Amino acid sequence: MQYPLFKQFLDASSSLTRQQKNTLHRLLFEDGEYGSSRELEQTIEARFAEKPHCPHCQSLEIRRWGIRNGRQRYRCKHCEKTFNAFSGTPLTRLRHPEKWAGYLDGMTHSMTLRPAARHCDITLKTSFRWRHRFLQVIEQDQAEELSGIVELDETLFRESFKGQRSGMPRASRKRGNDKKTPCRKFPVMVARDRQSQTVDGILEATSGDQLCQHLNGRISIEAVVCADAHLAHEKLARKLGFTFKELISSEGQRVLDDIFHIQHVNAYHSHLKNWISGVFHGVATKYLHHYLGWRRRLTEARKLTVEKLTEVIVDHWVNPPLKVT
Ligand SMILES: [Zn+2]
Repeated sequence: MQYPLFKQFLDASSSLTRQQKNTLHRLLFEDGEYGSSRELEQTIEARFAEKPHCPHCQSLEIRRWGIRNGRQRYRCKHCEKTFNAFSGTPLTRLRHPEKWAGYLDGMTHSMTLRPAARHCDITLKTSFRWRHRFLQVIEQDQAEELSGIVELDETLFRESFKGQRSGMPRASRKRGNDKKTPCRKFPVMVARDRQSQTVDGILEATSGDQLCQHLNGRISIEAVVCADAHLAHEKLARKLGFTFKELISSEGQRVLDDIFHIQHVNAYHSHLKNWISGVFHGVATKYLHHYLGWRRRLTEARKLTVEKLTEVIVDHWVNPPLKVT
């Protein structure tokens, strides 16, 4: 395409509808850019090779031990076990690494299991396995330290046994009959600063100790934390030592000093719930922590890309903190 025409095309692209953008995206990427990329696999191998360590005993004293299935193997001099760059990570024994990047690309668009399976030409079962293996990597990636003004709140999620066919602890709920069947609810805590850094966690109950388990070391002592008046929040503030701006929402107090409020974190909760119910039609409670991580990544200030997901995977599973033996 000649440049003037390409420029016209670029100028027109800002007025595309969401559906047109999706069509264009499929056209550009479906067979293509990520279709046969082994970049993720190669990046993991290359980064591991810079400072290989034993996943069994963390020793750095290892030697190369031949190549199997196209991957470098290593042997630990300390415990004598063999391994490769993927051993001990959720990606071990996942097949078709040439399709991983395409799958991650679908995840950056909240692609559900069936379209993702079609997108990568894999079975539905594999699609499910990949989603949760990748999410297992992503869920670990919480913000290191929230700072400045931090908003903290909990919202209740109903327990779900979606996908579970046997061993259900209660009879399944019938549509339209919600009120008659008792259902356990549990709080999901989200703490988010104004730079959109987020820490979240599933609690058994809203208590200071439970909040502390998730937030200890993750809120700067100089932060100002806004939250509803609640004994658990007061206890957390005493334990972690930050400044606490307490909102008495039961008395209609929504904002203090024009800037201290929890509207961003409430919006986050609301989008999270809409995303889970609207896109996935609910998720099983046992997998909810994976979806919290996925949502966290999708709501970063900058757009989620395959490259960013690759970085997360490489950082968390290839270069963990090492114990030198
Ligand atoms: Zn070892």
